[in-house]
Amino acid sequence: MPPSGYLVEEVADGVHWVTDGGYQCAFVVCDDEVIAIEAPPSLGGLVTRAIRDVTSKPITHVVYTHFHGDHIGRADQFPDDATRIAQQETHTMLRETGDPLRRLPDVTFKDSYRLEVGGQILEMHYKGSNHAPGNSFVYLPRQKVLIRSLERRPPALAGG
Ligand SMILES: [Zn+2]
Repeated sequence: MPPSGYLVEEVADGVHWVTDGGYQCAFVVCDDEVIAIEAPPSLGGLVTRAIRDVTSKPITHVVYTHFHGDHIGRADQFPDDATRIAQQETHTMLRETGDPLRRLPDVTFKDSYRLEVGGQILEMHYKGSNHAPGNSFVYLPRQKVLIRSLERRPPALAGG
Protein backbone atom coordinates (compact mmCIF):
# COMPACT_ATOMS: atom_id res chain seq x y z
CA MET A 1 0.00 0.00 0.00
CA PRO A 2 1.43 3.42 -0.94
CA PRO A 3 1.96 6.00 1.86
CA SER A 4 -1.15 7.85 0.68
CA GLY A 5 -3.19 5.05 2.26
CA TYR A 6 -4.91 4.07 -0.95
CA LEU A 7 -4.25 2.65 -4.35
CA VAL A 8 -6.02 3.83 -7.50
CA GLU A 9 -5.67 1.89 -10.70
CA GLU A 10 -7.33 1.85 -14.11
CA VAL A 11 -8.54 -1.72 -14.72
CA ALA A 12 -10.23 -1.13 -18.07
CA ASP A 13 -10.99 1.81 -20.35
CA GLY A 14 -12.01 4.54 -17.89
CA VAL A 15 -12.89 2.10 -15.12
CA HIS A 16 -10.82 2.65 -12.00
CA TRP A 17 -10.76 0.89 -8.70
CA VAL A 18 -9.69 2.35 -5.39
CA THR A 19 -8.70 0.27 -2.39
CA ASP A 20 -7.29 0.70 1.08
CA GLY A 21 -6.28 -2.94 1.16
CA GLY A 22 -9.57 -4.00 2.74
CA TYR A 23 -12.52 -2.23 1.20
CA GLN A 24 -12.68 -1.09 -2.35
CA CYS A 25 -14.80 1.09 -4.56
CA ALA A 26 -14.67 2.21 -8.15
CA PHE A 27 -15.32 5.08 -10.50
CA VAL A 28 -15.77 5.50 -14.22
CA VAL A 29 -14.32 8.41 -16.14
CA CYS A 30 -16.58 9.51 -19.00
CA ASP A 31 -16.06 12.19 -21.68
CA ASP A 32 -17.07 15.07 -19.43
CA GLU A 33 -17.99 13.56 -16.07
CA VAL A 34 -17.34 10.87 -13.51
CA ILE A 35 -19.59 8.10 -12.20
CA ALA A 36 -18.67 7.15 -8.62
CA ILE A 37 -19.47 3.66 -7.41
CA GLU A 38 -19.74 3.49 -3.60
CA ALA A 39 -17.81 5.32 -0.89
CA PRO A 40 -16.71 3.14 2.03
CA PRO A 41 -15.97 4.94 5.34
CA SER A 42 -12.65 3.07 5.59
CA LEU A 43 -11.49 5.15 2.62
CA GLY A 44 -13.48 8.22 3.62
CA GLY A 45 -12.52 11.35 1.72
CA LEU A 46 -9.71 9.47 0.01
CA VAL A 47 -12.21 8.36 -2.63
CA THR A 48 -12.53 11.91 -3.90
CA ARG A 49 -8.78 12.38 -3.65
CA ALA A 50 -8.22 9.24 -5.72
CA ILE A 51 -10.67 10.49 -8.35
CA ARG A 52 -8.83 13.83 -8.39
CA ASP A 53 -5.53 12.00 -8.90
CA VAL A 54 -6.95 10.85 -12.21
CA THR A 55 -9.27 13.59 -13.46
CA SER A 56 -10.73 17.00 -12.64
CA LYS A 57 -14.06 16.19 -14.32
CA PRO A 58 -17.13 16.68 -12.12
CA ILE A 59 -18.71 13.74 -10.29
CA THR A 60 -22.23 13.71 -11.69
CA HIS A 61 -23.51 10.24 -10.79
CA VAL A 62 -23.19 8.07 -7.70
CA VAL A 63 -24.08 4.38 -7.73
CA TYR A 64 -25.05 2.48 -4.58
CA THR A 65 -24.79 -1.30 -4.91
CA HIS A 66 -26.65 -1.73 -1.61
CA PHE A 67 -27.54 0.18 1.53
CA HIS A 68 -24.85 -1.02 3.99
CA GLY A 69 -22.89 1.77 5.62
CA ASP A 70 -19.57 0.03 5.17
CA HIS A 71 -19.97 0.48 1.40
CA ILE A 72 -21.69 3.83 0.95
CA GLY A 73 -21.35 5.44 4.39
CA ARG A 74 -19.32 8.32 3.01
CA ALA A 75 -21.37 9.03 -0.09
CA ASP A 76 -21.87 12.49 1.41
CA GLN A 77 -18.45 13.50 0.04
CA PHE A 78 -19.86 13.60 -3.47
CA PRO A 79 -21.56 16.75 -4.79
CA ASP A 80 -25.15 17.34 -3.65
CA ASP A 81 -26.27 17.72 -7.23
CA ALA A 82 -24.83 14.35 -8.33
CA THR A 83 -27.58 11.88 -9.19
CA ARG A 84 -27.71 8.92 -6.76
CA ILE A 85 -28.85 5.65 -8.33
CA ALA A 86 -29.91 2.46 -6.54
CA GLN A 87 -32.38 -0.41 -6.60
CA GLN A 88 -35.76 0.41 -5.03
CA GLU A 89 -35.23 -1.92 -2.03
CA THR A 90 -32.05 0.01 -1.30
CA HIS A 91 -34.15 3.18 -1.25
CA THR A 92 -36.55 1.56 1.23
CA MET A 93 -33.74 0.35 3.50
CA LEU A 94 -32.02 3.73 3.44
CA ARG A 95 -35.26 5.51 4.28
CA GLU A 96 -35.61 3.24 7.32
CA THR A 97 -31.97 3.72 8.28
CA GLY A 98 -32.22 7.51 8.13
CA ASP A 99 -28.48 8.18 7.92
CA PRO A 100 -27.91 11.73 6.59
CA LEU A 101 -24.55 10.63 5.16
CA ARG A 102 -26.31 8.07 2.96
CA ARG A 103 -28.69 10.27 1.03
CA LEU A 104 -31.69 8.59 -0.55
CA PRO A 105 -31.27 7.69 -4.21
CA ASP A 106 -32.71 10.12 -6.73
CA VAL A 107 -33.24 7.40 -9.31
CA THR A 108 -34.43 3.89 -8.50
CA PHE A 109 -35.12 0.79 -10.57
CA LYS A 110 -36.69 -2.62 -10.04
CA ASP A 111 -34.86 -5.18 -12.19
CA SER A 112 -32.23 -3.35 -14.15
CA TYR A 113 -31.04 0.09 -15.08
CA ARG A 114 -28.88 1.34 -17.90
CA LEU A 115 -26.91 4.53 -17.53
CA GLU A 116 -25.34 5.95 -20.65
CA VAL A 117 -23.22 9.04 -20.17
CA GLY A 118 -20.26 10.50 -21.98
CA GLY A 119 -19.27 7.47 -24.00
CA GLN A 120 -19.64 5.02 -21.11
CA ILE A 121 -22.37 2.48 -20.41
CA LEU A 122 -23.07 1.25 -16.89
CA GLU A 123 -25.74 -1.32 -16.16
CA MET A 124 -27.20 -2.30 -12.82
CA HIS A 125 -28.88 -5.66 -12.37
CA TYR A 126 -30.94 -6.89 -9.44
CA LYS A 127 -31.19 -10.67 -9.19
CA GLY A 128 -33.18 -10.83 -5.97
CA SER A 129 -32.08 -10.44 -2.39
CA ASN A 130 -28.49 -11.53 -1.96
CA HIS A 131 -26.12 -10.24 0.70
CA ALA A 132 -28.66 -7.46 1.37
CA PRO A 133 -32.09 -6.46 0.08
CA GLY A 134 -31.57 -4.53 -3.13
CA ASN A 135 -27.94 -5.59 -3.60
CA SER A 136 -27.29 -5.11 -7.29
CA PHE A 137 -24.50 -6.00 -9.65
CA VAL A 138 -22.82 -3.26 -11.62
CA TYR A 139 -21.76 -4.24 -15.11
CA LEU A 140 -19.85 -2.31 -17.72
CA PRO A 141 -20.69 -4.16 -20.93
CA ARG A 142 -18.12 -2.43 -23.11
CA GLN A 143 -15.25 -3.30 -20.78
CA LYS A 144 -16.85 -6.55 -19.60
CA VAL A 145 -16.22 -5.56 -15.99
CA LEU A 146 -18.50 -6.82 -13.22
CA ILE A 147 -18.59 -5.15 -9.83
CA ARG A 148 -20.43 -6.84 -7.02
CA SER A 149 -20.51 -6.70 -3.25
CA LEU A 150 -19.96 -9.96 -1.44
CA GLU A 151 -18.16 -9.24 1.79
CA ARG A 152 -16.88 -12.36 3.45
CA ARG A 153 -17.56 -11.43 7.02
CA PRO A 154 -18.81 -13.62 9.85
CA PRO A 155 -22.63 -13.46 10.11
CA ALA A 156 -22.39 -11.84 13.55
CA LEU A 157 -20.76 -8.82 11.97
CA ALA A 158 -22.99 -8.61 8.94
CA GLY A 159 -25.47 -5.84 8.48
CA GLY A 160 -23.06 -2.93 8.78
ZN1 LIG B 1 -22.87 -5.05 2.65
